[in-house]
Amino acid sequence: MKIISINAGSSSLKFSLFNMDDESVIASGLFERIGIEGSKYTIKFRGEKVSQEIELTNHTDAVKVLLDKLVDLEIIQSLDEIDGVGHRLVHGKDKYSESVLINDEVVSDLDKFKDFAPLHNPANILGINAFREVLPEVPMVGVFDTAFHQTMSPATYLYSVPYSWYQNYGVRKYGFHGTSHRYITKMVAKLLGKEEFRLISCHIGNGGSITAVKDGKCVDTSMGFTPLAGIMMGTRSGDIDPSIIPYVMEQEGKNASEVVDDLNKRSGLFGMSEYSSDMRDILEKCDLQDEKAIIARDKYVRRVVDYIAQYYVLLGGADVIVFTAGVGENSIPVRRQICEELACLGVKIDLDKNNKRGEVVKISTEDSSIQVYVIPTDEELMIARDTLDLINR
Ligand code: AMP
Repeated sequence: MKIISINAGSSSLKFSLFNMDDESVIASGLFERIGIEGSKYTIKFRGEKVSQEIELTNHTDAVKVLLDKLVDLEIIQSLDEIDGVGHRLVHGKDKYSESVLINDEVVSDLDKFKDFAPLHNPANILGINAFREVLPEVPMVGVFDTAFHQTMSPATYLYSVPYSWYQNYGVRKYGFHGTSHRYITKMVAKLLGKEEFRLISCHIGNGGSITAVKDGKCVDTSMGFTPLAGIMMGTRSGDIDPSIIPYVMEQEGKNASEVVDDLNKRSGLFGMSEYSSDMRDILEKCDLQDEKAIIARDKYVRRVVDYIAQYYVLLGGADVIVFTAGVGENSIPVRRQICEELACLGVKIDLDKNNKRGEVVKISTEDSSIQVYVIPTDEELMIARDTLDLINR
């Protein structure tokens, strides 16, 4: 069985083609600058990389080129080999708590919920419509970023604001990165050989969220009504006092959306360091004793530790902490600093084991109170698994 996982952005389309017999990646790639001058694609397969500039006026063009290339490059013999298409969908509000077969109702809901994810939901619809046009007979599955977090209790997902905001406008915590946290949960279940455990899953990359999981279910997560909330990120502020917004509006003569744009795009590591949103750059500057970079790194670590501590209490202790995504999988000094700050909980890591990147590794010592793992996330595989599962039902 062959399944394609699709992640459609407003001007991009990422794909991975899986052989689900052994869950191997047959090919993967990216179509970028769709509808913009200079559009191009890159396809990786069998250790090769093919890249070409080509006019792509819309997502349907990109899908047509993708499918043509899969056959031309002999990655597959014919399009009949594609058994299903899985789409990463961002916002399913409180209607979708698991993945679904895509039908007209799902597409109309994505449109209905677009105010909740104005950049992502319309792009997801473009991706779905493109495949519907080009591969109308192939079943498609939608995998929502918000779905895993639907098990939170009302006391967790409601904000302490007028209840009518929730009733009338849907103001509540939704949470994101759910597909990644679910993948990590399943990996931990496999590693421990059981389904019952208390897990704190730290997806820390350019975007970042931390999720508390009990017996396979999300209990709380750090992102909120939007992906701006929670920990500090590459360019996003994470949680701040909301009164800062009208104050800065007044000071800088900006409107609310301009200030929120500053919080999304010019804050976090980038805003604090006035240098870069990339942790590698920040760490280089820290080595040069750059004061702003050191403060930015320390704040980043602090916010992760704050959430781990909070979820430790919420879960009544923790069996496993997992680091994943760009920083979590690769940044040896950041993991070390976070774990050192958790020493009061009895967390101990083996510095040699922590010296690894991008592979599944248990970095805690045998006498650590909590097992600490690095697990590379794989949202594309999770999407392909859900797709296979739903089309086989
Ligand atoms: P992601 O959004 O998951 O792709 O993560 C991207 C972020 O991971 C980058 O912005 C970097 O800050 C971080 N990252 C990737 N590789 C490394 C590395 N070797 N050391 C430190 N940070 C890294």
